[in-house]
Amino acid sequence: MSFFQDTLSIFKKRDLSFIESHKESEDVYSFLFEKEKDLTWKAGQHGLFTIIHKKIKNPIRPFTVASAPAENVVRLTMRIGDSPSDFKKAMLELQIGMKVRISGPVGGFYLKDHSPSLLIAGGIGITPFRSMLKQIEAEGNNGDKHLLYMDTKQSYLFKEELDNIANNSSIRVTYLCSRDDLHQEIDAFINLYKDNGKYFVAGPKSMVGDISNYLKNNTIPKQAIKKDAFLGY
Ligand SMILES: Cc1cc2nc3c(=O)[nH]c(=O)nc-3n(C[C@H](O)[C@H](O)[C@H](O)COP(=O)(O)OP(=O)(O)OC[C@H]3O[C@@H](n4cnc5c(N)ncnc54)[C@H](O)[C@@H]3O)c2cc1C
Repeated sequence: MSFFQDTLSIFKKRDLSFIESHKESEDVYSFLFEKEKDLTWKAGQHGLFTIIHKKIKNPIRPFTVASAPAENVVRLTMRIGDSPSDFKKAMLELQIGMKVRISGPVGGFYLKDHSPSLLIAGGIGITPFRSMLKQIEAEGNNGDKHLLYMDTKQSYLFKEELDNIANNSSIRVTYLCSRDDLHQEIDAFINLYKDNGKYFVAGPKSMVGDISNYLKNNTIPKQAIKKDAFLGY
């Protein structure tokens, strides 16, 4: 998607109809919305979501669309702690048929070619990769993809789905809980693909910054690293 198209799509607003929500883990919820036929996105992109069923301060947040277009539903998956923001409280109050507004989806965080790619998720940063893997599952494989899913609490979201995809394709999924192990896996991928690999990193901002620095210190050029830094964590 070109910069021009991206800029245009941020002005495209539409209201999505709420279908249901469910808990994924102790503090993570998924929200499903109807996908109108003409709404589409690149797996991995995010939208700007606005609460419209009530008046709140700061009603807009960016969220990755955690579903693939092929799933025909818009899924948001978000961490909601003990004292959530008004935005997240409002999300938990949604009833079937109520609307949330989306601008976009936008962003350059998606697979552009068939290059071997290392997908590195930190915690809730798994959302864009769920979308990418689901799309690959629907469309067929497109080159070596290895997902490294790091979570120090070992609370891995979508584990069953990810394992299923890994079992039925050449995509590899590795669950990790320590930085040392993560670095080892990154080193192995770098050794295997040298300059031909692409690197996608998503998660809390500090984690994305650290991993991106690690990659750059290991001779990976900036252009080969795509980042999706989740602010607010
Ligand atoms: C491109 C992009 C994609 C993203 N995708 C996702 C995604 O898929 N899933 C996801 O979960 N996040 C995602 N995020 C992050 C998301 O946009 C929010 O920033 C994040 O979820 C935090 O939400 P929140 O601000 O509603 O705060 P909360 O998560 O509710 O709270 C964060 C902290 O702020 C405190 N807090 C909340 N409200 C107040 C208040 N009024 N006064 C004082 N303290 C308060 C809370 O106690 C908590 O400690 C993404 C961000 C970007 C930029």
